[in-house]
Amino acid sequence: MSGIYIEQRRCKQCGQNLTGRSDKQFCDTNCKSAYHYQNNNHEEMMIRDLTRYVRNNRRILKTLSYKGKTIVRKSVLDSMGFRFENFSSIYVTQKGVVYYLCFNYAFTPTIEKGIKKVLIVNKQNYMKDFDPWSFIQ
Ligand SMILES: [Zn+2]
Repeated sequence: MSGIYIEQRRCKQCGQNLTGRSDKQFCDTNCKSAYHYQNNNHEEMMIRDLTRYVRNNRRILKTLSYKGKTIVRKSVLDSMGFRFENFSSIYVTQKGVVYYLCFNYAFTPTIEKGIKKVLIVNKQNYMKDFDPWSFIQ
């Protein structure tokens, strides 16, 4: 053994052997941008996560309300991993009741004898009509 050990550096994207400057991490700008596109695309990750949460919420609502209208304790939804802050659209009745939709299922919070519950319904046709400007004072 010569005692001189040169660690072979490899491109972080494609794995090819690197030559040249010791701080080089990629073989070229194509590999560099490909690596950052795949690993640092936080916006895409955020969108994927939110889509997954709403899909999961929809699955939970469907599981609990497969026959349509039903009332379930909030704690049941909590235990199933429901995320109340994530939904796909919103509908407010003329009386001011807010329905949060997860695609084709809707829920609205309610309190019965001090217990937090959730009313789950199938999406109704009229729930597509939502006008944010109608809430401006
Ligand atoms: Zn490369």
